[in-house]
Amino acid sequence: MSVNELYQQMIIDHSKNPRNYGRLDNFTHTSQGNNPLCGDKIDVSLIVQDNVIKDLKWEGTGCAISQASASLMSTLVKGKSVDEFKEMFTKFRELMTIKGYEAEQLGKLKVFSGVQGFPSRVKCASIAWHAINNSLANKETVAK
Ligand code: ZN
Repeated sequence: MSVNELYQQMIIDHSKNPRNYGRLDNFTHTSQGNNPLCGDKIDVSLIVQDNVIKDLKWEGTGCAISQASASLMSTLVKGKSVDEFKEMFTKFRELMTIKGYEAEQLGKLKVFSGVQGFPSRVKCASIAWHAINNSLANKETVAK
């Protein structure tokens, strides 16, 4: 199966059955990502303890790519340390923007090399990642 076929399959699978969808009641960090170019919105809520992302949920509206990327990201990031998240985010951004990037180390994320060369799609695919990154940067975010 080609990366392109895997990409299509992953988008359909995660759009139909989004993982970790919803909002945590007792989150420690939260943020909203917006992509006005496409109309995507993603809300993330996280529980971070001892520098580890213990739990994470997201909800949102928008195109299939933004929703599928949020869903896949949530399965990969849950249980990872904040540093591991940042490392993955950096690699993910490189994957989407650098042609011929060595994607082996990214596992399932490599299907997103399908957005290379489509800047508007890069935004869709990365909105959830940016939302997590922003929520982690905003240490003073207070739970309601
Ligand atoms: Zn989109």
